[in-house]
Amino acid sequence: MQSAKDGTLTLQDGTEHGPFDLIIDAAGVTSPLSPLTSRPLPYGAIWGTVDWPETALPITQLSQCYRRADRMIGALPIGKMPNDAAQKAAIFWSLPRDKYDDWLASGLEKWKAEAVGLWPEFAPFATQITAPSQMTMARYSHGTLRKPYGTGLLHIGDAAHRASPQLGQGARRPDALRQVSQVTCRHLSSDERHFHTAISI
Ligand SMILES: Cc1cc2nc3c(=O)[nH]c(=O)nc-3n(C[C@H](O)[C@H](O)[C@H](O)COP(=O)(O)OP(=O)(O)OC[C@H]3O[C@@H](n4cnc5c(N)ncnc54)[C@H](O)[C@@H]3O)c2cc1C
Repeated sequence: MQSAKDGTLTLQDGTEHGPFDLIIDAAGVTSPLSPLTSRPLPYGAIWGTVDWPETALPITQLSQCYRRADRMIGALPIGKMPNDAAQKAAIFWSLPRDKYDDWLASGLEKWKAEAVGLWPEFAPFATQITAPSQMTMARYSHGTLRKPYGTGLLHIGDAAHRASPQLGQGARRPDALRQVSQVTCRHLSSDERHFHTAISI
């Protein structure tokens, strides 16, 4: 995708598709259709996926541990992979966006000792990390489109609003907006006012 105008979608090779009644832009943070400019956030996090271990932590909810605002550790149950019976966990550790190289340089054992020292319950998660490549650095940005729609175009999810995932709403917003979009589509041809009403919910 390259651009959308008046319900017509232009791909990168220049071919055009449409015109459509409505193009829904759900292409996420790097959407080429969204005019959103966002502000980089000072903190990101390293993330990894491990097996859910024997632990007293509840498998039904996110558990997090903080030290002031500069240390944050989390273990998030994420269910199973296809064809794999093991329950999985996403684990994360906050890092300033420019400190990933320092984390790599200081070594895994030092990090694990600090994390487990702050939160002993994290130990059975941390021991599964045996190579730095198991943890991926994610950097975040923040921004909201004041008007998440144009003629024949609706931006939803991260294409319309970006925030730190540690606020925990990123995955919920696109779902809610997809439902709004369905309502929008049903009313689009009958009365354009419904479109604006639905979008402003
Ligand atoms: C490390 C990390 C952890 C997170 N943890 C949480 C959390 O715990 N809770 C929470 O609520 N949110 C979390 N988030 C945020 C959440 O993932 C996003 O807010 C949410 O996924 C946004 O959904 P979306 O559908 O708008 O975009 P995405 O999920 O990014 O989906 C966009 C889709 O569009 C596709 N796409 C992009 N460009 C094109 C193109 N040109 N052509 C075709 N397809 C394209 C992409 O491949 C992708 O499949 C996390 C984000 C990150 C990075």
